[in-house]
Amino acid sequence: MKELNQSDKDYLLDSIRDIKDFPKPGIVFKDITTLLSDAKAYNFLMDHLADRYKNEDIDFIAGIEARGFIFGAALAAKIGNSFVPIRKPGKLPYTTISEKYSLEYGVDEVEIHIDAFKCNKENPKVLLIDDLIATGGTATAAVSLINKSGAECVEACFLLNLTLLQGDKEIRKTTSVYSVLELD
Ligand code: AMP
Repeated sequence: MKELNQSDKDYLLDSIRDIKDFPKPGIVFKDITTLLSDAKAYNFLMDHLADRYKNEDIDFIAGIEARGFIFGAALAAKIGNSFVPIRKPGKLPYTTISEKYSLEYGVDEVEIHIDAFKCNKENPKVLLIDDLIATGGTATAAVSLINKSGAECVEACFLLNLTLLQGDKEIRKTTSVYSVLELD
Protein backbone atom coordinates (compact mmCIF):
# COMPACT_ATOMS: atom_id res chain seq x y z
CA MET A 1 0.00 0.00 0.00
CA LYS A 2 1.33 3.43 -0.95
CA GLU A 3 1.46 6.00 1.88
CA LEU A 4 0.76 9.61 0.90
CA ASN A 5 3.74 11.97 1.12
CA GLN A 6 3.53 15.62 2.22
CA SER A 7 3.16 16.94 -1.32
CA ASP A 8 0.25 14.50 -1.98
CA LYS A 9 -1.40 15.74 1.22
CA ASP A 10 -0.81 19.41 0.34
CA TYR A 11 -2.33 18.74 -3.08
CA LEU A 12 -5.54 17.35 -1.51
CA LEU A 13 -5.65 20.06 1.17
CA ASP A 14 -5.38 22.76 -1.50
CA SER A 15 -8.49 21.35 -3.18
CA ILE A 16 -10.62 21.89 -0.03
CA ARG A 17 -12.13 25.36 0.49
CA ASP A 18 -12.46 27.09 3.87
CA ILE A 19 -15.70 28.99 4.51
CA LYS A 20 -15.41 31.24 7.57
CA ASP A 21 -18.36 31.63 9.97
CA PHE A 22 -20.49 28.86 8.39
CA PRO A 23 -22.96 27.60 9.55
CA LYS A 24 -22.47 29.95 12.51
CA PRO A 25 -19.91 32.54 13.70
CA GLY A 26 -16.58 31.08 14.80
CA ILE A 27 -16.77 27.90 12.67
CA VAL A 28 -14.41 27.41 9.73
CA PHE A 29 -16.37 25.06 7.48
CA LYS A 30 -14.28 22.65 5.38
CA ASP A 31 -16.02 22.69 2.01
CA ILE A 32 -15.21 19.47 0.15
CA THR A 33 -17.38 20.33 -2.90
CA THR A 34 -14.28 21.94 -4.45
CA LEU A 35 -12.40 18.63 -4.10
CA LEU A 36 -15.32 16.70 -5.63
CA SER A 37 -15.60 19.03 -8.61
CA ASP A 38 -11.86 18.64 -9.31
CA ALA A 39 -11.81 15.28 -11.15
CA LYS A 40 -8.06 14.81 -10.67
CA ALA A 41 -8.14 15.45 -6.91
CA TYR A 42 -11.29 13.37 -6.35
CA ASN A 43 -9.89 10.41 -8.29
CA PHE A 44 -6.52 10.74 -6.58
CA LEU A 45 -8.27 10.48 -3.20
CA MET A 46 -10.48 7.55 -4.24
CA ASP A 47 -7.47 5.67 -5.73
CA HIS A 48 -5.65 6.13 -2.41
CA LEU A 49 -8.60 4.82 -0.38
CA ALA A 50 -9.10 1.89 -2.78
CA ASP A 51 -5.41 1.03 -2.48
CA ARG A 52 -5.65 1.09 1.32
CA TYR A 53 -8.78 -1.08 1.62
CA LYS A 54 -8.95 -3.31 -1.50
CA ASN A 55 -7.20 -6.29 0.15
CA GLU A 56 -8.64 -5.83 3.64
CA ASP A 57 -11.14 -8.24 5.19
CA ILE A 58 -14.21 -5.95 4.98
CA ASP A 59 -17.79 -7.11 4.35
CA PHE A 60 -19.56 -3.71 4.29
CA ILE A 61 -18.68 -0.04 3.92
CA ALA A 62 -20.98 2.22 5.96
CA GLY A 63 -21.16 5.96 5.21
CA ILE A 64 -22.54 8.68 7.50
CA GLU A 65 -25.15 11.05 5.97
CA ALA A 66 -24.50 12.99 3.86
CA ARG A 67 -20.86 13.45 2.91
CA GLY A 68 -19.91 9.96 4.08
CA PHE A 69 -22.22 8.66 1.33
CA ILE A 70 -20.14 10.34 -1.37
CA PHE A 71 -16.83 8.74 -0.36
CA GLY A 72 -18.27 5.51 1.04
CA ALA A 73 -20.46 4.61 -1.94
CA ALA A 74 -17.72 5.50 -4.43
CA LEU A 75 -15.19 3.38 -2.52
CA ALA A 76 -17.59 0.43 -2.24
CA ALA A 77 -18.21 0.45 -6.01
CA LYS A 78 -14.48 0.80 -6.70
CA ILE A 79 -13.40 -2.19 -4.61
CA GLY A 80 -16.49 -4.36 -5.23
CA ASN A 81 -17.93 -4.06 -1.73
CA SER A 82 -21.42 -3.38 -0.31
CA PHE A 83 -22.58 0.04 0.90
CA VAL A 84 -24.80 0.79 3.92
CA PRO A 85 -26.14 4.31 4.63
CA ILE A 86 -26.14 5.57 8.24
CA ARG A 87 -28.87 8.22 8.27
CA LYS A 88 -30.42 11.01 10.29
CA PRO A 89 -33.63 10.02 12.13
CA GLY A 90 -36.83 9.35 10.18
CA LYS A 91 -35.24 8.89 6.74
CA LEU A 92 -35.01 5.10 6.46
CA PRO A 93 -38.23 3.31 5.42
CA TYR A 94 -37.80 -0.12 7.05
CA THR A 95 -37.39 -1.04 10.76
CA THR A 96 -34.38 0.78 12.24
CA ILE A 97 -32.10 0.81 15.24
CA SER A 98 -30.70 4.11 16.46
CA GLU A 99 -28.06 5.69 18.67
CA LYS A 100 -28.31 9.10 20.33
CA TYR A 101 -25.31 11.36 20.95
CA SER A 102 -24.74 14.75 22.57
CA LEU A 103 -24.13 17.96 20.70
CA GLU A 104 -22.91 21.26 22.18
CA TYR A 105 -26.60 22.08 22.71
CA GLY A 106 -29.03 19.16 22.68
CA VAL A 107 -28.84 15.68 21.20
CA ASP A 108 -28.76 14.11 17.75
CA GLU A 109 -29.27 10.59 16.51
CA VAL A 110 -28.06 8.21 13.79
CA GLU A 111 -30.03 5.26 12.39
CA ILE A 112 -29.56 2.13 10.29
CA HIS A 113 -31.91 -0.55 9.03
CA ILE A 114 -32.10 -3.44 11.47
CA ASP A 115 -30.96 -5.89 8.75
CA ALA A 116 -28.33 -3.58 7.19
CA PHE A 117 -25.42 -5.97 7.82
CA LYS A 118 -27.28 -9.21 7.21
CA CYS A 119 -25.08 -11.69 5.33
CA ASN A 120 -23.84 -15.25 5.56
CA LYS A 121 -21.29 -14.32 8.26
CA GLU A 122 -21.75 -14.40 12.03
CA ASN A 123 -19.91 -11.16 12.76
CA PRO A 124 -19.47 -9.14 9.53
CA LYS A 125 -16.68 -6.58 9.39
CA VAL A 126 -17.56 -2.97 8.63
CA LEU A 127 -15.48 0.01 7.50
CA LEU A 128 -17.07 3.32 8.57
CA ILE A 129 -16.55 6.45 6.42
CA ASP A 130 -17.24 10.14 6.89
CA ASP A 131 -15.64 13.32 5.58
CA LEU A 132 -14.40 14.87 8.81
CA ILE A 133 -13.76 14.37 12.54
CA ALA A 134 -14.58 17.42 14.70
CA THR A 135 -15.62 16.40 18.24
CA GLY A 136 -15.92 12.74 17.17
CA GLY A 137 -19.47 12.47 18.53
CA THR A 138 -21.17 11.48 15.26
CA ALA A 139 -18.62 8.80 14.38
CA THR A 140 -18.51 7.37 17.93
CA ALA A 141 -22.32 6.98 17.82
CA ALA A 142 -22.08 5.37 14.36
CA VAL A 143 -19.45 2.85 15.58
CA SER A 144 -21.65 1.98 18.54
CA LEU A 145 -24.66 1.53 16.21
CA ILE A 146 -22.69 -0.82 13.93
CA ASN A 147 -21.46 -2.90 16.88
CA LYS A 148 -24.96 -2.96 18.44
CA SER A 149 -26.36 -4.40 15.22
CA GLY A 150 -24.20 -7.53 15.48
CA ALA A 151 -21.47 -6.39 13.10
CA GLU A 152 -17.95 -5.20 13.99
CA CYS A 153 -16.58 -1.79 13.02
CA VAL A 154 -12.94 -2.60 12.15
CA GLU A 155 -11.90 0.95 11.17
CA ALA A 156 -13.31 4.47 10.88
CA CYS A 157 -11.90 6.39 7.91
CA PHE A 158 -12.03 10.16 7.32
CA LEU A 159 -10.70 12.63 4.81
CA LEU A 160 -9.91 15.23 7.49
CA ASN A 161 -9.18 15.17 11.22
CA LEU A 162 -9.39 18.51 13.05
CA THR A 163 -6.80 17.45 15.63
CA LEU A 164 -7.20 20.37 18.08
CA LEU A 165 -10.65 19.07 19.04
CA GLN A 166 -9.18 15.61 19.82
CA GLY A 167 -12.30 13.87 18.50
CA ASP A 168 -10.17 11.01 17.19
CA LYS A 169 -9.26 10.08 20.79
CA GLU A 170 -12.94 9.45 21.51
CA ILE A 171 -13.41 7.29 18.40
CA ARG A 172 -10.18 5.34 19.10
CA LYS A 173 -11.75 4.03 22.32
CA THR A 174 -14.04 1.89 20.15
CA THR A 175 -12.25 1.28 16.83
CA SER A 176 -9.13 2.00 14.82
CA VAL A 177 -9.03 5.43 13.09
CA TYR A 178 -7.48 6.46 9.76
CA SER A 179 -7.56 10.02 8.48
CA VAL A 180 -6.03 10.98 5.14
CA LEU A 181 -5.32 14.58 6.28
CA GLU A 182 -4.78 16.17 9.69
CA LEU A 183 -5.26 19.86 10.50
CA ASP A 184 -4.77 21.84 13.75
P1 AMP B 1 -18.41 15.72 15.06
O1 AMP B 1 -19.54 14.78 15.45
O2 AMP B 1 -18.30 16.89 15.97
O3 AMP B 1 -17.10 14.96 14.88
O4 AMP B 1 -18.80 16.33 13.66
C1 AMP B 1 -18.61 15.60 12.50
C2 AMP B 1 -19.68 15.88 11.48
O5 AMP B 1 -19.98 17.27 11.38
C3 AMP B 1 -19.17 15.43 10.12
O6 AMP B 1 -20.22 14.73 9.48
C4 AMP B 1 -18.82 16.71 9.41
O7 AMP B 1 -19.25 16.65 8.08
C5 AMP B 1 -19.52 17.84 10.16
N1 AMP B 1 -18.59 18.95 10.53
C6 AMP B 1 -18.23 19.30 11.80
N2 AMP B 1 -17.38 20.34 11.79
C7 AMP B 1 -17.19 20.66 10.49
C8 AMP B 1 -16.38 21.64 9.81
N3 AMP B 1 -15.60 22.52 10.47
N4 AMP B 1 -16.39 21.65 8.46
C9 AMP B 1 -17.16 20.77 7.77
N5 AMP B 1 -17.93 19.84 8.34
C10 AMP B 1 -17.96 19.76 9.69
